[in-house]
Amino acid sequence: QAKRDSSKQVHYCDENIMNSINRRERIIEILKDKIAKQSFELYYQPIIDLKTGKYDFAESLVRIPNSSLGPLYPNEFIPIAEETGLIIEITYQILEKACEFINHLSKENIHIKSVHVNFSAYQFNESNLSNKVIEIIESHHIPLSKIKIEFTESTIAKNVEVVTHFANYVAQKGIRMGLDDFGTGYSNIATVIGIPFGTIKLDRSLILAAMDNEKSAGLVKNITRSFQDLGCSVVAEGVETKEQNQFVKDCQIDFVQGFYYAKPMPEKDVIEFLKHNT
Ligand code: C2E
Ligand code: MG
Ligand code: MG
Ligand code: MG
Repeated sequence: QAKRDSSKQVHYCDENIMNSINRRERIIEILKDKIAKQSFELYYQPIIDLKTGKYDFAESLVRIPNSSLGPLYPNEFIPIAEETGLIIEITYQILEKACEFINHLSKENIHIKSVHVNFSAYQFNESNLSNKVIEIIESHHIPLSKIKIEFTESTIAKNVEVVTHFANYVAQKGIRMGLDDFGTGYSNIATVIGIPFGTIKLDRSLILAAMDNEKSAGLVKNITRSFQDLGCSVVAEGVETKEQNQFVKDCQIDFVQGFYYAKPMPEKDVIEFLKHNT
């Protein structure tokens, strides 16, 4: 009775693989179409300064809210964009939109320090990256310091020399640098220190670990202090609860980005939000 029908099993597997290949192919189509139409949507998540209670920064997070496959999230489509090389053009378009957003903010008389844009490791294969990035920002007539580029330790690890050179070159021109997801990668302190990061973002997993483990909590406190001693500001990512918020305050963490304060929002909504909170 419990005998396995092996032919059926194999067939079932095939179907699953076929479905995921189909889905991947369709996502590639959607990405190409979005690139052609320059129609990626950016959501923005405000980042609060715990000392002043002001929202000084916002991170841009790409969204595809409507597609033939329904809403698509970056955790699914960014890896596909990376594997296919489409990420390079996508990032330029996102940077353009972030610059337009900054200009929309100034029109509303909202002045935040910078908008964060995520760069993936693959971007650094671009030979002319630094000039293109500077050109895009300057074409919108905004100071270079209005953009902060976020990347992770694994991005640095994949190409230490190129990333270090890029970061130092554009930082010296005024673009800001932020380390993303600290605590998830294979940290190499020497290479992290070689990059002029203004902010270090502690990954949500560190905050979660700290909530039920005293050793982790101590570690977060010490990491925060160490980076602050180096002149960096520390951002806690993924703060969702009152307890987590109290913890990051106790650690004297500088900034918080999390659902507890604000979720990522479409441009219109974030402009309304910032109007009332800056
Ligand atoms: P990330 O850069 O670390 O972005 C933070 C992620 O944490 C966002 O997810 C955000 O919605 C989520 N988050 C923020 N606060 C909370 C919280 O309190 N609780 C929880 N559970 N989550 C929170 P999202 O937008 O789904 O993005 C996921 C990842 O996809 C990003 O992680 C980033 O690595 C990548 N990504 C997003 N937009 C872009 C982009 O424009 N370019 C590139 N290259 N990657 C992007
Ligand atoms: Mg990020
Ligand atoms: Mg992050
Ligand atoms: Mg993250």
